[in-house]
Amino acid sequence: MDRTHTVGFIGLGNMGQPMARNLLSAGFRLKIYNRTASKARELAGLGAIEVPGPADALDPDGIVITMVSDDAALNMVVEGTDGLYNSLGPGAIHLSMSTISPATSRRLAEHHQQLGAMYVACPVLGRPEAAVAKRLWMCLSGPAEAKQQVRPLLEAMGQGTCDFGEDPGAGNVAKLASNFLILSAIEALAEAFTFVRKNGLDRATLADFLTQTIFNCPIYQNYSRLLLAEDYEKVGFKLALAMKDLNLVRDAAESAQVPLPMAAILHERLLSSLARGRGDLDMVAMALAVSEEAGVQPAGRTD
Ligand code: NAP
Repeated sequence: MDRTHTVGFIGLGNMGQPMARNLLSAGFRLKIYNRTASKARELAGLGAIEVPGPADALDPDGIVITMVSDDAALNMVVEGTDGLYNSLGPGAIHLSMSTISPATSRRLAEHHQQLGAMYVACPVLGRPEAAVAKRLWMCLSGPAEAKQQVRPLLEAMGQGTCDFGEDPGAGNVAKLASNFLILSAIEALAEAFTFVRKNGLDRATLADFLTQTIFNCPIYQNYSRLLLAEDYEKVGFKLALAMKDLNLVRDAAESAQVPLPMAAILHERLLSSLARGRGDLDMVAMALAVSEEAGVQPAGRTD
């Protein structure tokens, strides 16, 4: 794989947009497709070639990247009437970067193999700001030969990759475990901040203290900052998508017969947030329900 190849990129949302831009900046030629065509215009202005359907994004033995929202969207761009199965042939590689279920990855990988093509899972850790800054971390799995070929693309989009082996679902299991930890951290931070606030302490002082000492790591630092900012309309990751991820975690855990009691708590929290019409707000809006249950009215909100 070198920069003379044209790579397909499908799904130009909050994450796909900056990831595709970084590939262009690194010198790769891109064919791009987004269901809502207007979102492809900016990248087309930077030299990417807009195509009318997912199948058109893939050269016969080329590489195509998908970064759509969920399992249903991925099934649509792969198996739909103008989907990738119209063009996926021997030697082609599908680099699947959405957060989806391990089961979908395994099912698609098997079908790809029957066509002589290869499926690589590589979901990412990091919000859109990290995607812009090429600071994504990536959970890779799939056939060794295909992983080798996609490395230059991954290097152009992120800061590092962990290889979880050949099982196409393994990268997704790792990603779901990571998101489960992140949601747990947000819930725990929101509860701790509400606890100190109701006791008359300044939350920012606690956050500064902890994130410079024993909680000195990006997740606690970034989510403390986002929780304190209380700017839920600035959406990096929609709350509705967080629920999608949590349901993926719970389904995969149930299949493997792994009880996750914390996931049940998070499910109730996200469900009550959705019921209050917060699905399109950023995922940190789950903290609003934590405040409300404690009788604390969050700053600037009446809903
Ligand atoms: P997003 O902004 O909502 O974008 C979703 C993309 O999927 C859009 O391009 C959308 O097209 C497309 N799509 C949705 N349904 C479709 C369908 N039925 N057919 C074709 N295309 C469809 O989501 P995002 O934040 O970029 O997230 C993308 C993936 O990355 C998700 O799996 C998410 O869980 C994962 N992720 C997100 C973050 C984050 O912080 N945002 C971090 C790590 C991983 P339209 O433009 O037409 O709607």
